Amino acid sequence: METHAQTPCFDLSCRLCARLAAYLDTVRAEHPDYYAKPVPSFGDPGARLLIVGLAPGKHGANATGRPFTGDYAGILLYKTLHAFGFASEPVSTSADDGLALIDCRITNAVRCLPPGNKPETGEIDTCNRYLASELAAMPPAGFVVALGTIAHRATLKALGLRLSAYPFGHGAEHQLKDDLRLIDSYHCSRYNTQTRRLTEAMFEDVFRTVHKYLAA
Ligand code: SF4
Repeated sequence: METHAQTPCFDLSCRLCARLAAYLDTVRAEHPDYYAKPVPSFGDPGARLLIVGLAPGKHGANATGRPFTGDYAGILLYKTLHAFGFASEPVSTSADDGLALIDCRITNAVRCLPPGNKPETGEIDTCNRYLASELAAMPPAGFVVALGTIAHRATLKALGLRLSAYPFGHGAEHQLKDDLRLIDSYHCSRYNTQTRRLTEAMFEDVFRTVHKYLAA
């Protein structure tokens, strides 16, 4: 069952990244109806599947307060999660639409909206404490899906692992610890799906692998 429970150290009023905090102040003034704060993870902290994205989209998670909700990037993600039994509905429209994640949680490498959708390295590193906390809270036999290279690198960094030992590749699987696996995917962004760098079939293959592992 979906909850909005957070990992212990996450601070919804976090302003550790001065550039991002100032940008959010501007966006909030421009769009008073937007959520425009650090976006919390979505789903049960005890879930075995953790999906790691990049950062909130301006008119998506930043507007609604739920990862991958409100813009194009979430369309394929929630449709695929529903197809493999990880979501109660195939479409996520708002933070209070009743959709529940099932043994699944979604987070981002960076929790605040970055200008141009491009966080700086220092911001990714600063927010890494929250991702580390997410990973530490996972139960045994967990599986992480990293959506894109930044999510992949942030996951390795949060676990204190060498980047060179686990090269990113769409569909590549990595055993990170005795009881934690990682699979990479190209990010389900509008650009990647419309250029067919990531097709529905490719994305489904990733979640088929996860589903098979978790069902075993
Ligand atoms: S990106 Fe993360 S660390 Fe930086 S201000 Fe937002 S929540 Fe805090």
